[in-house]
Amino acid sequence: MPATSKQIAEDLDNNDPLREYRSQFYIPSGKTRKEQLYFTGNSLGLQPKSVRTYIQQELDDWKNFGVEGHFHGKNPWFSYHHFFEKEANVVGAKKDEVVVMNNLTVNLHLLLVSFYRPSSKRYKIIMEAGAFPSDMYVIESQVKHHGYEYDDAVIELEPRKGEHHFRTEDIVKAIEEAGDELALLFFSGVQYYTGQYFDIKTLTKAAHQVGAIAGFDCAHAAGNVKLQLHDWQVDFAAWCTYKYMNSGPGGVSGVFIHEKHGNNPDLPRFAGWWGHKESERFQMKRGYIPEPGAAGWQLSNAPVITMAAHKASLDMFDEVGMDALVIKGQKLNRFLEEVIIEAQAANQKLALEIITPEDRGCQLSMLTNENGKSLFDYLTANDVIADWREPNVIRLAPVPFYNSFMDIWEFGELLKKF
Ligand SMILES: *Cc1c(COP(=O)(O)O)cnc(C)c1O
Repeated sequence: MPATSKQIAEDLDNNDPLREYRSQFYIPSGKTRKEQLYFTGNSLGLQPKSVRTYIQQELDDWKNFGVEGHFHGKNPWFSYHHFFEKEANVVGAKKDEVVVMNNLTVNLHLLLVSFYRPSSKRYKIIMEAGAFPSDMYVIESQVKHHGYEYDDAVIELEPRKGEHHFRTEDIVKAIEEAGDELALLFFSGVQYYTGQYFDIKTLTKAAHQVGAIAGFDCAHAAGNVKLQLHDWQVDFAAWCTYKYMNSGPGGVSGVFIHEKHGNNPDLPRFAGWWGHKESERFQMKRGYIPEPGAAGWQLSNAPVITMAAHKASLDMFDEVGMDALVIKGQKLNRFLEEVIIEAQAANQKLALEIITPEDRGCQLSMLTNENGKSLFDYLTANDVIADWREPNVIRLAPVPFYNSFMDIWEFGELLKKF
């Protein structure tokens, strides 16, 4: 008995408690079918239909109130970031530990100003080789900024020979070996290429045991997997909101700073007026007094128009909760894996190898071997929106808010016909 069939997909959709949410998103139309088979929610999440209303609200307040929208708008812009306290629930944090501001790469630099403060003895950074390019450039420029050579200061870890993903024990061993030279462990939460979900708790503990800071780029983790950043004692994290969190191209970024740091006003940071003690922000005085918590890292007044899009999405996350999303995300992912395995068995032309380990979120990455690019082009021509990563990986991420089991089934039918 196959583990997948059209009937099974239909049953799974009919019994899906989140099935109504699909109609709350715009699914792009296809050339060969009514709706695309959209599997790139890990890259740019689709638009919630409510976004327009949320943005319109801010346009109306701007139109009707001008500058007074800061205090008299429906959602006063002066304290706009407070509308995003629910973001903390998405990443398992306390509300003061999270703030929404800027873009991801900018925030990584701001966080490293506070959390990478190397000394002559302790200056090394451990990160994964093949990290997302922006993260590589952030780390490269940070160590150079502090006067170090990249090859000396940065320890890039690789999976074992012949393996595609990391073993936690190998990362822990590297942390122990770096010992009191290690200033910072900086890893992704979920690896963008392989989809591996790292054991953040264990890695953080290992970093702390040698006296280092543990920071994570959660771009592919936020809104995708269940995070407990506070309980795991993670020092800092940041993520973008336009991937799994559906907040639009170039959307704002979320930042987590554990309360043990966030409530230390003496922790060095780059400051701006929006992070200043809120009750005195408009007194325009000298002398920076940070707001407690992550809010004390804000620099500029909130980019309200893009944040309004995020607000629309965040309200949906709040309504559903991460638990339900993770349960469905896992089911979609396992169904996708079965569909790929069965298509492979039915079609000798496919030479796919799934490289995503068991610890994962929604994403599956597969090596495609020789005919990978032609497979990818065939899928694209048939309105499968996946993505191609050199040299030969196809990434697919069915997401719980708007993907259906039928999307995956139909993808499998296309694979069989390749
Ligand atoms: C998507 C992504 C980014 C993108 O950074 P922006 O500053 O939002 O352009 C950075 N790092 C990782 C790991 C990502 O997945």
